[in-house]
Order: sequence, then C-alpha cells, then structure tokens
Amino acid sequence: MHTMHKSDIMTFATSVYEENQVLELEHAIDYATKHHHGQKRKSGAAYITHPLSVAYSLIDWGMDVDTVLAGVLHDTVEDTDATLEEIENLFGRDVAFLVDGVTKVSQARSGMRDLSSYLPQTKDNLSKLLIAVGQDVRVIIIKLADRLHNMSTLQYMPADKQLKIARETLEVFAPMADRLGMGRVRMEMEELAFSYLDPQEFKHLQSMMRKRLGRSTRKLGTVRTEVEKELTKHSFDFEVNGRVKSIYSLYKKLKKVDGNIDDIYDLMALRIIVDNKEDCYRVLGILHSMYQPMLARIKDYIAVPKPNGYQSLHTTVITPSKQIVEFQIRTQEMHDYAERGLAASFHYHEHKATKNYTKNKRGNGGLPAELQWITQMQEVAARLREGEDISESQLNIDLFGNRIFVYSPKGDIYNLPEGAYPLDFAYLVHSDIGKHAYSFRVNGNINAFDKPLQNGDVVEVVTRKLPQAKKAWLELVVTSHAKSKLRGHLKQLGLIEGISHAAAIIRDKASRRN
Ligand code: MN
Repeated sequence: MHTMHKSDIMTFATSVYEENQVLELEHAIDYATKHHHGQKRKSGAAYITHPLSVAYSLIDWGMDVDTVLAGVLHDTVEDTDATLEEIENLFGRDVAFLVDGVTKVSQARSGMRDLSSYLPQTKDNLSKLLIAVGQDVRVIIIKLADRLHNMSTLQYMPADKQLKIARETLEVFAPMADRLGMGRVRMEMEELAFSYLDPQEFKHLQSMMRKRLGRSTRKLGTVRTEVEKELTKHSFDFEVNGRVKSIYSLYKKLKKVDGNIDDIYDLMALRIIVDNKEDCYRVLGILHSMYQPMLARIKDYIAVPKPNGYQSLHTTVITPSKQIVEFQIRTQEMHDYAERGLAASFHYHEHKATKNYTKNKRGNGGLPAELQWITQMQEVAARLREGEDISESQLNIDLFGNRIFVYSPKGDIYNLPEGAYPLDFAYLVHSDIGKHAYSFRVNGNINAFDKPLQNGDVVEVVTRKLPQAKKAWLELVVTSHAKSKLRGHLKQLGLIEGISHAAAIIRDKASRRN
C-alpha cells in the first residue's frame, strides 16, 4: 500500500475544501506530526502515515472538514502528550468533541471482541462506546476509516492479533459500515478480514472465481456491446460497468446454495447507471424486451429499498446463447449512496448529521428511515449517560441485529429490529399511540399483539380513548424505546412501582417462578 504523505493530503484537500479550511488542515497535520514524532507503526513507517491515511479516506468519502481534522488528530490524545484542551483551543470544540469520541471508542474497544458475547464486566466499555458515538455518528465514520487502514496494514501484526482484529472487523465494524449504507467500506473490510480468518478458503474461492470469470468475461462482453447498442438507439445517457462479486459474499452465498457455484448467477453483473429513476425503469423494460428475464430474480429495490437504504433495480436474464447475466440498474445518486452510504449525505459541511434527528422519512428534513437506528442509538446513549441500567441483550437487539421496514397506512416508513412486535411500532410512532393501542391491523388483517412484524408490513394501530397499557405488555415489546416508554406509563397508572429496572426484572422473574 502507498505510504501517505502530507503532500498527498494537501493536494487532495485543495480540490475539495475552501482555502482557509485547507490551511487549518495543514495546521492539524503539522501538529499531529510534531506530537507523533519518533513513533513508528509496526511496519516501520512513521506513525503519522496512519492518521494521514485515515484523513485521506475521510476526504475520499466526502466528509466535512472537521471530521477530516479529527481524523488527522484521532490518536494524539491517546498516544501522545497532546491534550483535549489544547485541541479545543487550536481547532475548536467540534473537532475536540470528535477526537474525544474516537478516543473513548478505542478505550471501550479494548475490552470488547464480539458484541454478542462480551462479558458483563465489559459492559462499561460498551456503554462508553455508545455514549461516545451516540452523540455524533461522525465518530463511527472516523473509526471505520481508522479500522480500514489498520486492516490494510495487518500483515505487520503478530498472528494472534491478526485474528482478533480480523474477527472484530467482521463482527462489529463491517456490520456497522453496512448499517450506515457504506457498501464499499463494508466490502473492503470483509475481504481483508476474511483473507486473514480463513486464508485457505479465501485463496481457493479466489482462484475458482478467476477461472469462472476468465471464461465468462468474453461472453459478457458480447452482451454488454449488444445492450450498449440498444440503449444508444433509445438515446439514453448511460454508463455500463462490470461488477465482480466479492470473495466474502461469494463465500456466504455458497453456504446458502450448498456449495454449488453453478447456482450463483451474479459472479459478474453488469451495472447500468442512468440519469434518473424513470430511466432505470425504461432500461429494465428494454432489457426484458431483449432477453428472457428470470421472474423470481426481478428485484425493485427502488420502490422498496433494502433496510440499509440501498436502491437499485436488479434483474437476471437468459441470453439466446443461454448465458445467465445479472443487471443492476441505478442512478448516479443511488450508486453514490450504495458505495458511500451515510457519508455521501454529509456533502462536506452542508448538514452535519449530528443532532435533532427526527423520525420523518426521507425528504422531511430528518434522517431517512433506514437510519432511524441512529436516533435510537442516541436515545440509548442518553439514557446510559443518565445512569439507566440497560441489559446487553437489549443493546444487541436495538443496535446490532437485523432490521426491518414497516409502513404506516399513510406510507410513512419506520425502521425496527427484526422480531419487533406491533406494540414496538406503536411506541415508535408516538408514545401516546402506544399507550392507547387497542388492536392492530397488519396488511388489513387483525394481528395478535404477540405476532412479530415482517419486513414490508403495513401496520395500523387501532386506539381507544382510555389508556390500554397493562403490565403484560412488557412481554410484548422488544425495543428498549418501547420498553422504557411503557414502563413510564405503567408507573403513571400505578401498575408498577417506581423501582429500578434491574429490581423489577428480578421481581418479575421471581413472581413468574411461583
Ligand atoms: Mn488509529
């Protein structure tokens, strides 16, 4: 990998930021260089090459200049005699806040390998992590850039550390990148991590992939030329790229199809990028008039995006020469989002996605539905700061599990963890609606309180004037948001006492045992 120098950053930054911002960045680089002076990476390179690489990624992802400054400075407080006060004085509160957050995450991380199996004594660490990132999602984005560079220089680490870091990357950081819609970062992390965790399998799949691709690339070239010709006839502005499946996603897919690579149709896909949404559907129509589509494999992720916000049309067709080809059709904007995710929405410093997220859907000034978990994370962080006791399984459900989308009858989109119940939805819409919920209609049919919601469900809450909340409901919610609102209501109604959650749970369990 190329060793990063100050001049690389300066050249790049000059093309992106304003003059005074570039000067400030230079100041930060000089400051960090001075403080890291004499320190070396395991590779033998000067330590400063690491924060510079982190900063380079952050510029590349389109982050605002404060985030880039914090990227340059991210290891100074932890590893040098630089202080947070000094950083605040020199570079402002915002930058100091981000550096502090990154430092807290590093401290938290040391006791946390796998979020689903960490021990109770490390819960403090997870709390620190959440408190740090909960206030500003840019902290996570800096951590992702940090981790990406550490992964790319992992060969210099001792073998046991390599495994530990690679596993953590696969289990914690890649899902985090995915959750933020940062597809390219997720993919890079997975490829690197997998190559360390199972080097034999990685090499095996890599060579299998190469053989396959060698054979099909020429055939695919013919299809591509045909398609380009046809689209030109319809006078489209378009761009066609080939995209090759990543080794790690091939590995995961092979597990699903019992190891038969012949059952995988998208080893190589053709990606068509057009100007607008309408053109996406027109291109789909043209492809289907040229080739036979495989019905089950037509996916409209534009009308129904994936839970992390990914949008595209997918279709797999069979050519007259019996070749199976997958196409992915999207606009440039959708492409940017698929690659850069939340980072793509920062647009340098247009809006800092820091505070006051609302539960509105895209375009209403709030976060898009797929990022509502950030609001929920901030809420959890706030409650941890207030000293509330939140169990680790709860945190996992809220923050690290799979997510689903459900809709209100008006079409508003809500993002919930998999396994959420109708009451979780009701409390997410509004705590008053939760409190007064009487029954639920899901896709037009009456739905039991204890039947989990599915992705894509339309949920209608039927309310009554009098609050309906009862103690038994505590078993019928899984999100910590709904749980805490419900507890509040139950206390108000005098149905439970105002005791600590831990005590309540112990008492609950004890009484159930009797
Ligand atoms: Mn670092």
